[in-house]
Amino acid sequence: RALEIRSESHTYPIYIAAGLRHQTADILKGLGKSTFSAVLIVTDETVGPLYAEEVAASFADEQPLYICTLAAGEQSKSMETYYELMTFALNCHLDRNSVIVALGGGVVGDAAGFAAATYMRGIDYVQMPTTLLAHDSSVGGKTGINHPLGKNLIGAFHPPAAVIYDTETLYTLPEKEWRSGLAEVIKHGWIQDPELLKVIKDQWLDLSAVPVDVLNDTIRQSIQVKAEIVQLDEREAGIRAFLNFGHTLGHAIEAEAGYGTLTHGEAVAIGMDFAMKLSGKVLGSSLDSEAYNEEMIRLGYDLTIPASCEPETLLAHMKRDKKAAEQKVRFVLLQEAGVPLVRPVEDDTILDLLKEEMTI
Ligand code: NAD
Ligand code: ZN
Repeated sequence: RALEIRSESHTYPIYIAAGLRHQTADILKGLGKSTFSAVLIVTDETVGPLYAEEVAASFADEQPLYICTLAAGEQSKSMETYYELMTFALNCHLDRNSVIVALGGGVVGDAAGFAAATYMRGIDYVQMPTTLLAHDSSVGGKTGINHPLGKNLIGAFHPPAAVIYDTETLYTLPEKEWRSGLAEVIKHGWIQDPELLKVIKDQWLDLSAVPVDVLNDTIRQSIQVKAEIVQLDEREAGIRAFLNFGHTLGHAIEAEAGYGTLTHGEAVAIGMDFAMKLSGKVLGSSLDSEAYNEEMIRLGYDLTIPASCEPETLLAHMKRDKKAAEQKVRFVLLQEAGVPLVRPVEDDTILDLLKEEMTI
């Protein structure tokens, strides 16, 4: 029942179910590399105390097992933490046959994944996502850390050997983090699978009370959307750009409002709202952004662009974005639900709409 994800180097399974953390060792054994020389669990200070011992307990004493606990939050995607991770791994004598288990959200996944990509020119790692947002990073093979000059600037494509998604762990997430991840699910719905939007509308009335089977199915469907797009476009040349829906303005807002003020998904939710309105102006699409607004507010999102952001600086940021290859900002717009396309948009059109939005 695992989802199979094809990457350039290999195919790997994504297991999604409640309680999988107790079966970690068995799942690893099933990967056909029965003897890992050592296991290094990388986690953070919030997730570690909740789940690391349970993951560790699934292993018999067949091989040495170590736990490395990073500080929680984006700060752990740093050069310093990377260096500490390398030192930790070397001190544990990890070798080319060892495995890193990334137990945590996107931060742990990215940092531990990058460590695995570069330790002795690359060793296996397994992702155990514990946030809803991390369903997004479980496909695509991107790993990396930040530089003071920008996010995710240092990294590698290094797909995991497997993804073990224990959905039971999601219930300890704070609401803000639920919302952050749910925005990416909603994004996948808008760009490819409108059916997902219906499921969320009908069954995600109260975030922390979503039944686990609904959670499993939704995550599975959402991962499938990303997998389809990524598999069609392995190196970000064409349609992978659709995954940037809501992200052009979203990234600008995150940066201008200050990282940590809003979660990634909260900023993307605002960006999707903006991209929908822009789709109306540029393509004449008749998307019901009123309904989008209502639905998002019901789920607890605030779609107002933070007052600390200026329209001009937001635009300047979008033009700096590494994805804006040419002069004009390239936006992912929607012809209709499920039909995205990429269009360069005039600065004035963007500015006018930003100003309109920010004076309401
Ligand atoms: P995160 O890893 O910082 O987790 C958010 C917070 O929730 C942290 O404080 C964490 O300790 C806590 N937490 C995690 N799981 C928990 C649980 N089960 N119970 C209680 N608390 C828990 O952030 P995130 O939102 O998961 O990921 C954000 C990062 O992911 C960013 O750095 C982003 O760049 C990266 N990302 C990468 C990709 C990719 O393709 N590689 C895709 C999207 C995002
Ligand atoms: Zn995103």
